Amino acid sequence: MFQHRILKTVGLVIAVMAGMVLLASAADRPNIVWMFSDDHAYQAIGAYGGRFEKENLTPHIDSLARDGMLFERAYVGNSICAPSRATLLTGKHSHLNGKYDNRGGFNHDQQQFQKILQKNGYQTAMIGKIHLSGAMQGFDYWEVLPGQGNYWNPSFITEKGKTQYKGQHSTKVITDRALNWLKTGRDGKKPFMLMVHYKAPHRRWEPNTEMKEKFKNRTFPEPDTLFDDYEGRGTAAHKQDMSISKTMSIGRDLKAGAGPRKEELDKLKLEGKDLIRWKYQTYMKDYLACIAGVDDNVGRILEHLKKQGLDKNTIVMYSADQGFYLGEHGWFDKRFMYKESFRTPFIARWPGVIKPGSRNSDLVQNIDFAETFLDMAGAPIPGDMQGKSLVPLMKGETPKDWRTSLYYHYYEYPAVHSVRKHEGVAGKRYKLIRFYGKDVPNSEEWEFFDLKTDPSEMKSGYNNPEYAGVIKDMKAELLRLRKFYKVPDNQR
Ligand code: CA
Repeated sequence: MFQHRILKTVGLVIAVMAGMVLLASAADRPNIVWMFSDDHAYQAIGAYGGRFEKENLTPHIDSLARDGMLFERAYVGNSICAPSRATLLTGKHSHLNGKYDNRGGFNHDQQQFQKILQKNGYQTAMIGKIHLSGAMQGFDYWEVLPGQGNYWNPSFITEKGKTQYKGQHSTKVITDRALNWLKTGRDGKKPFMLMVHYKAPHRRWEPNTEMKEKFKNRTFPEPDTLFDDYEGRGTAAHKQDMSISKTMSIGRDLKAGAGPRKEELDKLKLEGKDLIRWKYQTYMKDYLACIAGVDDNVGRILEHLKKQGLDKNTIVMYSADQGFYLGEHGWFDKRFMYKESFRTPFIARWPGVIKPGSRNSDLVQNIDFAETFLDMAGAPIPGDMQGKSLVPLMKGETPKDWRTSLYYHYYEYPAVHSVRKHEGVAGKRYKLIRFYGKDVPNSEEWEFFDLKTDPSEMKSGYNNPEYAGVIKDMKAELLRLRKFYKVPDNQR
């Protein structure tokens, strides 16, 4: 009897201690807030410098860079919306997660980082644009736009059905819903992962009323390559359908088919380069006003975290599903492995771990995000994920064997914007691209760029004998990466 009581007491003490250990580790583990927008070019973030630096478009996102780390060389593996999101969740390139392009479905049953976070005691929530049809898995709470979603009067899908927010702008509603979850949806005993995914600044660039008004009379610097004629590059650059001059429509894209913009255009009677300049300026007014709207709302989230005292133990990150052309090469849109769409913004703030105001210039890619989230949470990382945790980089301790090259592969052709299929390899200095398949002469066309001497990627050096040795090495590296990342042979 006595012995039994002792055993019971010992059992109780052990149970209480185990509970304390669990509680302690839950409190120690950081919360994670991931803010992600659609088509936000790094050029349009003040902290990244460049021609919009002085425009003060993104004070709140810039504050994350000031308090955290800005990644100068963050890239995607396939520069297009839905595949980028599939990579974000799976930590795998398109050929392994099955999401090659914006068409076709996504297999939600496969492994995704949020399922592992959830199993390891995290509360998980996804709010906004995910662009993967079907019910989300691994999220305790999810509320997502159907497909592309709408800027105005957006509808959201949850497990319970559809709700429309009439008279409201998607950037505000997504933030409101995220704040609502932070206020009422959280389980205080668990650390959380909250993903806030904006639709803005995706085409057709519809800012909120306040920002539209603020930006309507502003003018912005032009890129040096606005009137690019694509000499020096191959078929793909010549034959794309994503130019400001031809593809961007005055009515649908620039909302100048009627109203004040039409009156302005009718009065100006522009032609040739002057018309392209007007289209560029009008595009920038709308696009950058969308960015300013996102930044305002990033500010609302940061303010809430601070007010609730959550900022100290919450990692905050900002990124986008890929980069975008803001008139460089005369383009809008993405898809190409050229710099502006291959790169993506990525900034992380982690009090006590990341040194404020630091910059990292290692090669990182969106296959790394899923592993990074798991590492931050102290959760196990499955062996078949293809990236690497960025936590050591955030601590300023880049491993000696960190990658020196990146693999890229774009698949959506024939399709809107007519960008030929291509794959490629890039290091810090050189980039080798292989366009292939339908509508590529002899079904294979190569381009090579020395980013040191040609940072705007205007003249392929593929036939320059000076580079023959480098190109040979890069071709070997491309084959090594194909093998390393398990790219199937029928995809080339
Ligand atoms: Ca996108």
